[in-house]
Amino acid sequence: MERRVYMDYAATTYVKQEVMEEMMPYFTEKYGNPSSVHSFGREARKAVDLARERTAKALNASTDEIYFTGGGSESDNWAIKGAALANKQKGNHIITSSIEHHAVLYTCQYLEKMGFEVTYLPVDQYGLVNPEDVKKAITDKTILISIMFANNEIGTIQPVKEIGRIAREHGVYFHTDAVQAVGHVPIDVKDMNIDLLSLSAHKFYGPKGVGALYVRKGVRIHPYLHGGAQERNRRAGTENLPGIVGLGKAIELAYENLEESNSKLAAMRDRLIAGIMEKIDHVRLNGHPVKRLPGNANLSFEFIEGEALLLSLDMKGIAASSGSACTSGSLDPSHVLLAIGLTHEIAHGSLRLTLGDDNTDEDVDYVLEVLPGIVERLRNMSPLFAQHKGEKYYV
Ligand SMILES: *Cc1c(COP(=O)(O)O)cnc(C)c1O
Repeated sequence: MERRVYMDYAATTYVKQEVMEEMMPYFTEKYGNPSSVHSFGREARKAVDLARERTAKALNASTDEIYFTGGGSESDNWAIKGAALANKQKGNHIITSSIEHHAVLYTCQYLEKMGFEVTYLPVDQYGLVNPEDVKKAITDKTILISIMFANNEIGTIQPVKEIGRIAREHGVYFHTDAVQAVGHVPIDVKDMNIDLLSLSAHKFYGPKGVGALYVRKGVRIHPYLHGGAQERNRRAGTENLPGIVGLGKAIELAYENLEESNSKLAAMRDRLIAGIMEKIDHVRLNGHPVKRLPGNANLSFEFIEGEALLLSLDMKGIAASSGSACTSGSLDPSHVLLAIGLTHEIAHGSLRLTLGDDNTDEDVDYVLEVLPGIVERLRNMSPLFAQHKGEKYYV
């Protein structure tokens, strides 16, 4: 069979064998409802408790600060809407950034329609939020600051601890969408002054459709799903038992070998980026050169369309992602790439390659072997390239 290389780990990961093995019994013989008082129920409850302990430990939180959810999007929605509604007596102002995931951006836009006011902070050319801008945006009406930990497109890691300190000093809640960061960078919610944190298992080798929200003790937040008394009356619905078990195992595994796995990933990422820059002209790296996720490479290729690049790579068995959203029915390029100052044209020529645990040096070699030819072929079909050959046109 033809070679297949998966470099789209920021979209989702496979489920690790050890995680899968731990989940399996909870589909079949250990299927109790954690709310039941009989032995089946108690067995299930024990498993949820263990997952909660593992999650709390990974974040330096306590177990009663962890709430399991249906994934990253739910956690983001809950954190922002829940905090907004519970604190609207105090004020109606929310601060976020212009490069958030849509689960945060669209939630904020929805709240604007409900009468809340939202400040969308700009970022610099690397995608960094300036903590001074956060400070300046705070008013006596500000109730929540929501800034993502690490960006899903360009990999930039924000100065979270600094932003958390400012929020704490002003008595404003600080939420961070850490869906790309959990399991990939060290996180300490206490040291980093985080009040609310979203995470999702399928971004760190756990199953899809399960996540968690960390809610610091004492933080005022309304429930998002109403019904049964699960999750200490804050998130109704019978627990996704196998999913929660998988999340717990995956988060524990992720932090066991973090340094080793990150240095291997970063070395592959750097060789990939350096190889592309060396073999191909008219390329720029998006995101911060060092403050970035170890597996993230995001590059813009002048004179071509990211979508065409993706399709050509796919024909060679390489799975990647682009910076334009044509596939989702919109012709607008990514809001993240526009926010870091890229023109529409160059943003359209962007490619995201995100590496993970199963990638090898041979995978990197294969991409470096295949990509230059694809770029050359696409550029030869581009009238703009013929016109501007040899000069820096967009960048
Ligand atoms: C994937 C992702 C989400 C959404 O998480 P789901 O579990 O897929 O709902 C939210 N924020 C960021 C930064 C993400 O990368």
